[in-house]
Amino acid sequence: MNNTAQELSKLDLEHIWHPCSQMSEYDSVLAIKRGDGAVLYGYDEKAYIDCISSWWVNIFGHGNAYIAAKIAEQASMLSQVILAGFTHEPLVRLSARLCKLLPSPLNKCFYADNGSAAVEVALKMSYHKNKLRGKEKPLFLNLKNSYHGETIGALSVGDVELYKASYGGILIDCISAKVPCDFSAWGSEIVSEDEALSDLEKVLKTHAHCISAFIIEPLIQCSGNMNMPSPAYTKKACELVRSYEIDVIFDEIAVGFGRSGSMWAMEQVGFVPDFVCLSKGLSGGNLPFSVVVTSDSVYNEFLGDFDRAFLHSHSYTGNALAAAAANATLDIFESENVIEKNKALSAFILEQFKWARHHEKVRNFRQRGMVLAFDVPRLAGAKSREFRSLALNRGLLLRPLGASLYFMPPYVITRDQITFASTQIKELINEL
Ligand SMILES: *Cc1c(COP(=O)(O)O)cnc(C)c1O
Repeated sequence: MNNTAQELSKLDLEHIWHPCSQMSEYDSVLAIKRGDGAVLYGYDEKAYIDCISSWWVNIFGHGNAYIAAKIAEQASMLSQVILAGFTHEPLVRLSARLCKLLPSPLNKCFYADNGSAAVEVALKMSYHKNKLRGKEKPLFLNLKNSYHGETIGALSVGDVELYKASYGGILIDCISAKVPCDFSAWGSEIVSEDEALSDLEKVLKTHAHCISAFIIEPLIQCSGNMNMPSPAYTKKACELVRSYEIDVIFDEIAVGFGRSGSMWAMEQVGFVPDFVCLSKGLSGGNLPFSVVVTSDSVYNEFLGDFDRAFLHSHSYTGNALAAAAANATLDIFESENVIEKNKALSAFILEQFKWARHHEKVRNFRQRGMVLAFDVPRLAGAKSREFRSLALNRGLLLRPLGASLYFMPPYVITRDQITFASTQIKELINEL
């Protein structure tokens, strides 16, 4: 570490409490000076390939010149205006574009500033809509091993025990149905799609009358060790839920914007939910931003007297800089044929990582779209954190989820960088 990096690390530890971290494990913290494409640079100019898109947000690279220019242009015009009673061009254009890209009847956008907040919005809207129809349904349904964020409501409808355990006393009510999975790498269960569906049906038969909504991360449970249930299962599960007159919320916060291989995971599933939550890739990974898109029929339910209204707001709802970044992100999707190009990139990634498929230390090799993952039983526990620093030494930003190692880079990663990352990861695993 050079002097600036050392000074920053020291001052950081005096004043910053880091997310998702046991602070007693920090004896220093790496300061990143700048980014360029898929690469981050420290103050000593050491390069790190961002194999996880900085927590899955950065889809078009760090320091993206086009998006940066659009944000700067917007900043000199208007950064923020109260959205109650006012609007602005970037947000109007963005909303029309999103609704055009999403299947009908998804046609009304409600904005927030992070993924968890979007999940809260969708949960409240569904519950409130039912109440307006005279139905009190205070329960939510999710799948085991799902993740929907960290605020109380979002945490309640997730099922990652590690994050929830301490807050049991203050969560809202949610029940879980089994999810198809293969967690045999750490001695845990294998659940087939049929078993998951029949468990879902069992839960529905008992509790359907008081469930407002079913929330699901379609196709990839990202935080849940990159578990990848099939489109066919997902469609059957959603149709089953809908047959009980329960709303379906797609949390596409991580899988939207091309990550699953199509622009939206719902395209592969062949099912249009009542609500979709988008965030992470929405601003191309540049600014905190999120949106819930729902139908005119849900929206219409809230019309009438003022006390029927959806009185939810955030100070930064519909921020103009974030909207400009999101429009720039959609420009790139349009002008660069990203979804098609990603198909070739995803095939290249598979080819480069094919050594892992039959590696003796690897289990459950899987890929969907722009996410490749496999389990390395030896990575379980503290080993996983040690592995992160070994990877950094080799110029890779990796963050295994327990024993699951995943590669989820920005779409602008070069073929040479993929090859380099694959080679380094192979050596790291051989040395385990
Ligand atoms: C990241 C994530 C969230 C929460 O978004 P935040 O912006 O971190 O609050 C919710 N759902 C899924 C599927 C996510 O991956």
